[in-house]
Amino acid sequence: MTRPAAASGAVRQGTLRELNLAVVLGRIAAAPRPPSRADVAAATGLTRATVSAVVDDLIAGRLVAESEPAPRAGAGRPARGLVLAGTGPAGLGLEVNVDYLAACVVDLTGRVRHHTVRRADLRPLSPADALARLAALAAAARADAQRQGLTLAGAALAVPGLVDAAGLVRLAPNLGWRDVAVGDLLAAHPPLVDPVPGIPPLVVDNEANLAALGELHADPTGPASFLHVSGEVGIGAGIVLDGALFRGVRGWSGEIGHLPVDPQGRPCRCGGRGCLERYAGQEAVLAAAGLAGADLPADTAAARLADLAAVGDPAARAALAEAGRALGVAVAAVVNLLDLDTVVLGGGYALLTPWLRPPVLAEVSRRVITAGWSPVTVRPSALGPEAAVVGAAGSVVRRIVADPAGWLGRPG
Ligand SMILES: [Zn+2]
Repeated sequence: MTRPAAASGAVRQGTLRELNLAVVLGRIAAAPRPPSRADVAAATGLTRATVSAVVDDLIAGRLVAESEPAPRAGAGRPARGLVLAGTGPAGLGLEVNVDYLAACVVDLTGRVRHHTVRRADLRPLSPADALARLAALAAAARADAQRQGLTLAGAALAVPGLVDAAGLVRLAPNLGWRDVAVGDLLAAHPPLVDPVPGIPPLVVDNEANLAALGELHADPTGPASFLHVSGEVGIGAGIVLDGALFRGVRGWSGEIGHLPVDPQGRPCRCGGRGCLERYAGQEAVLAAAGLAGADLPADTAAARLADLAAVGDPAARAALAEAGRALGVAVAAVVNLLDLDTVVLGGGYALLTPWLRPPVLAEVSRRVITAGWSPVTVRPSALGPEAAVVGAAGSVVRRIVADPAGWLGRPG
């Protein structure tokens, strides 16, 4: 079990064949419309004969398929386009959060083929018991994937906490987890995936990081640099700079929930005072809206607040205004430091963007010294509360596309 390499663009030393497989598959994946073999040859500089041989291997290995030829006016036989295969390897995304578990399967084309969420307060459970429930969800996802002709080639697990380089969950304060060896605990259950050389069977990563990556890849035309803030019971952020996640020295960047918005303020589980989470986290917002103890899962809590705010409920409106003000103070600090122009509100915040955006923008315009020349855009995430688990599955798929030789060379 490993974490993703810091620089995902690193090219592994491989044979010429391995390199050609990756170049051709990468070209097919990136093309705006299904390319012909001749198009791939022209774009990569490889000979047509080489491209044809490589494409045949990719088709035989269920990584690429030929699309139906598009009707074409004029003479000549229309060429078939090459597309990523929808029945072949797929990625398993898993998520453990404070009040739900989730599993999803994403195929090579990026389509979500399976998605289940189980609501449960996981705080009373031991890590082993919580992960046993997750393993059952994963087994159901794997069986469903097999029924659809997909093979799970790797898994990535999103957790709301700090994960070290060996995949150990050092601290997940809202779950009460400390030094949890997730991989060892999951190893007591049936395997999550079919092992593929070169693809780690399980990567454990911070949920805010995976959500930001999910957002980055959900919209290839979107901004290359942005801050993605996931609002759940805890608040995490993923910092994307120039198309890559900024992880920090130990992979622990983005703990925006513990930026102080009032240094003398409310005590926090982390030991500090006045952390953002204590003003804009799900529990604080529910309490301010008069819904304390309602014990609603993240998306239900957000939906309930959105419904109340939409009909003008004064307590809900005031709670969201206060949460947005606190969020704006923290976001302004990040924007001042990193010079970003886009803030994406994800997790439970996605649904609440209409009410959070105005107070966030008010604080940003008051506190960001460059705001007068470079306005900051605040928008909801495209993937919403599913961003982390979909991003997790997508991270596996991108590994397969970047290095298809392992899949093609796997035993059986
Ligand atoms: Zn804190």
